[in-house]
Amino acid sequence: MKKLIVGNFKMNTTVQEFSNYLDKFLPDVKSLKNGIVLCVPYTHLMLANQKLVATNVLFGSQNISTEENGAYTGEVSSIMVKSLGATYTIVGHSERRKLFRETDEQINQKIKMALGVNLKVILCVGETKFEHNNNKTKLVIKRELEIALKGLYENELKNIVIAYEPVWAIGTGKTPSTKEIENVVDYIKNVVAEIFSQKSAEKLCILYGGSVDENNCANILKIEGVGGLLVGGSCLSPDKFVNIIK
Ligand code: PEP
Repeated sequence: MKKLIVGNFKMNTTVQEFSNYLDKFLPDVKSLKNGIVLCVPYTHLMLANQKLVATNVLFGSQNISTEENGAYTGEVSSIMVKSLGATYTIVGHSERRKLFRETDEQINQKIKMALGVNLKVILCVGETKFEHNNNKTKLVIKRELEIALKGLYENELKNIVIAYEPVWAIGTGKTPSTKEIENVVDYIKNVVAEIFSQKSAEKLCILYGGSVDENNCANILKIEGVGGLLVGGSCLSPDKFVNIIK
């Protein structure tokens, strides 16, 4: 089945470097069948819009504002991102939760902002090392999902992808066992089924993210219920990212 492979550039590359990246990357992926999304810094959206039109690669932002417009210096709204041709935005990445103190309630608000302008959402959930070591993974994921999805209509779920990203696995070279990933992905489906319905939960696309590389990607993609990958560090090299997508 077709998988969704998302690259998260984080705060990396200048616009010129990103342009060079695309010149190398696009010819290598043009015949590949997986869904490909590049989540780039806001400053790169215009270039992405120009260079990715009529390609098989979609793009998105890594965050959006909780607000629509107004006196919010430094913020970028969902409609601004959408107006540059983006299809997706990441919401609730653990770096935003931790470094910028984003709350579950703000994440819920951001999701509503994105869906309101037809931007698809990649919602990140996952436990810290402390929570993992103290058997709190399910508790954390349930809370994150329940608040993030609060007040949404069931038919909006089709525009949401959920990324399971254990915080302790991001950028550390560590990954959970395949059994652990399978259990959490299954649990995410159960929570979504409780909130909405089994039918909608079954249709959900759930990604795994956290230290995915060329060596572990194939095994992770074989895990029951994993619909794709969210890739940070390894997407910054076009060669490595092409291999992962392949
Ligand atoms: C991420 O930032 O979403 C991520 C998964 O990072 P990395 O692949 O570097 O662990």
